[in-house]
Amino acid sequence: MFEDAKLLPPDPILGLSKLFQDDPRSEKIDLGVGVYRDLNGRTPVMKAVAKAETNVTAAQTTKAYTPVDGAPGFGPAILDLVFGADSPILSAGRAAAVQTPGGCGALRLAGELLNSQGAASLTLGAPTWPNHIPLLSAAGLKINSIPYYDRDANAVDFEAFKAGAAKLGPKDVLLLHGCCHNPTGADLSPAQIDEIAAMAAAQGFLPLVDTAYHGFAKDLDTDVYMIRKFSAELPEVLITYSCSKNFGLYRERTGALIIVGASADRALAVKSQATSLARKNYSMPPAHGGAIVAEILGDPALSALWREELSEMADRVRGNRRLLAQTAQDFGLHNRLSFIADQAGMFSLLPLTEDQIGALRDQHGVYVVGGGRINLCGVNETNVKHLISSFKAVTE
Ligand code: PMP
Repeated sequence: MFEDAKLLPPDPILGLSKLFQDDPRSEKIDLGVGVYRDLNGRTPVMKAVAKAETNVTAAQTTKAYTPVDGAPGFGPAILDLVFGADSPILSAGRAAAVQTPGGCGALRLAGELLNSQGAASLTLGAPTWPNHIPLLSAAGLKINSIPYYDRDANAVDFEAFKAGAAKLGPKDVLLLHGCCHNPTGADLSPAQIDEIAAMAAAQGFLPLVDTAYHGFAKDLDTDVYMIRKFSAELPEVLITYSCSKNFGLYRERTGALIIVGASADRALAVKSQATSLARKNYSMPPAHGGAIVAEILGDPALSALWREELSEMADRVRGNRRLLAQTAQDFGLHNRLSFIADQAGMFSLLPLTEDQIGALRDQHGVYVVGGGRINLCGVNETNVKHLISSFKAVTE
């Protein structure tokens, strides 16, 4: 069977982490891997999560299977968080949630669901999170790429994105990032989201909103503007949701596929299609992370603590954005990196060629992902001068 199986190269981002670990230079800076890190470079267990975990473990009486749609209470709690407890979408029963193994599991399930319903294509803006393409094409979808980001302007190229989306019709799907675009940090403005909603309404394509950083852009309500706008204006929306970053649950593999249907009956029918596909694949998601999220969101004190911790994380990343942009000004870079202060989430793209990325790493110990993506969590008061002077050295 496996005589001809080739050894594949390691994942490039994980390979970069290994190179970083093995680098003996004390001034090295890791801007690579995509997890939240605190000032000390750690990815801590959130206090609200640790407390909820204690409660969940104490109350646990069985390890028997959960339903295919996940830990009891998880789905309703995520729907309230995403739409708002008093949302007309929820009172109409138009939204349904299926817990999935992380955001990746949600994307793969969304891809299979779309494929099973005869989706003609899935269109995404370039660049995007690199795993989107293999994940969704492995589900059998034909992927089209349209421009999203202008690397010279360091901003969304909305005219080009709209021109690509203008070609879509019924049975086509447009993938959008709910907030904190990965890798660019450049989100659509509310007015641009409104324009896409109007296009989807007129042309009949389905938006798939991938949301992996809810709470990291501005706040929990503002960050779901796209989801709420689309759900109010369009008959159908799909949302893939990750609890990896905002609950810090990465390895617990906790996420959701959220279906908004034209009616309560449609939402339930589509949910039944999704759970049937899940059953044929992994059967049901790991319950632990879902139970923790349900415990936090169902308990006012834990929920308040979680919100506070999340906004502290988001504040820290925003502060690092300002620090990097200001230091670049202080080093005479004349607004070349000022766009970073205005972008959202953990990532931005440094305007670098692949040779310059290699020189940053080899000559200066500054580790940036191919394409120029940096994780702003890795920036701090101590290393920012070395980072900017190295950037200057390789680009001037
Ligand atoms: N979508 C995007 C845009 C992401 O950045 C990520 C995680 N890096 C995911 C989905 C998947 O998240 P998870 O780790 O929960 O599978």
